[in-house]
Amino acid sequence: MALTALIVLGPLSPADASAERVIGASDTGAPIEAYLVGNPEATNRIVVLGQMHGDEPAGRRVVSVLRGLTPPPDTAMWLIPTMNPDGHARGTRTNARGVDLNRNFPTQWNEQGAGTRQWSGPRAASEPETQAVMEFLREVQPTAMLSFHQPFGVVDITHPPARKAGRLLARWMDLPARPVGCSGPCPGTLTEWVTEELNAIALTVELPATVPSSAVDRSASAVIRLARWLSQQSA
Ligand SMILES: [Zn+2]
Repeated sequence: MALTALIVLGPLSPADASAERVIGASDTGAPIEAYLVGNPEATNRIVVLGQMHGDEPAGRRVVSVLRGLTPPPDTAMWLIPTMNPDGHARGTRTNARGVDLNRNFPTQWNEQGAGTRQWSGPRAASEPETQAVMEFLREVQPTAMLSFHQPFGVVDITHPPARKAGRLLARWMDLPARPVGCSGPCPGTLTEWVTEELNAIALTVELPATVPSSAVDRSASAVIRLARWLSQQSA
């Protein structure tokens, strides 16, 4: 699907820009939105996904705080409040078609979990939400991608290229860091796809079940700190 809208909300000089884009639509036609803060031409590009599972809303609050913060120089931060607006509206893990989007990405996809909360969908990348995020990430080519979930309270450092960044982020968020994985290989996950196909740092960030405002603020600050660290790595 083409990038369907570009609405410039602020001055679009390379050094200071904010923009809103609709990167796709859900099964029911709800827009999937992305917000840019920082320099769109930066070499350091961070994508933060606030929500994939509709019953895990806390990461949206982190994204909301991040929209008001200033990223480091030479950094673009793309903020996606949710890739699953239908699940969010319904309070369900899955999208409107009952698919677990974190089993629907093409890397190591296999059909599994029909009738459960972990249904892979009928084929790899069958869902419009998955397709929208893949197209957007292929275009942005992020340095790092963070995907917020709940409720386990851990930064997942399953993917070796992401371990150093993940340990730092966890320390700054005051969470543990460890490989979470699945019981066996993780088929069809977003972070697996980003790691394998985009060669980017990909981190699943599991917030706890209950997230007070202080933890939301701390998480947003930790993301900014990670962005600064990443820009220093690429400098
Ligand atoms: Zn989740």
